[in-house]
Amino acid sequence: MPESTVMTLRLLVRNEETALKLLREHDALPMTKYCPGKGQNVCNNLMRQRFKKTRKGNSTASWQCSKKNCHKELSIRFGNPFFYYSSAQGKCNAKLTLTSILELIWLFIYIRCTIREAASLTQHSSATVVEWWNNC
Ligand SMILES: [Zn+2]
Repeated sequence: MPESTVMTLRLLVRNEETALKLLREHDALPMTKYCPGKGQNVCNNLMRQRFKKTRKGNSTASWQCSKKNCHKELSIRFGNPFFYYSSAQGKCNAKLTLTSILELIWLFIYIRCTIREAASLTQHSSATVVEWWNNC
């Protein structure tokens, strides 16, 4: 039963683009972002979204400023700390894709399977499953 419902979710949320679309439809992530600038330099330019491939072959989204002499880039997750953690340098970090996070939320709220089942279905460690379920 959990396997078939995970397959259903994977049909709805196929990749980072569809995960981002779903999260935006539910106001979990912003549709637009204005550039905060670099250091003391305030920019306020409307940033554009771009997708790029990661080393693991996944696609990841970011905001990028197109203003000359700025070109600041931010994670698309910036603005909702549920989806990232901040490093000591204030950088936005995330170990899981938005797609993986949505799967774990789905399994926690809708399927209510065991940690072992969730780890098996998602190919994540039990520790990762517990860490995310504690956030839910
Ligand atoms: Zn800028």
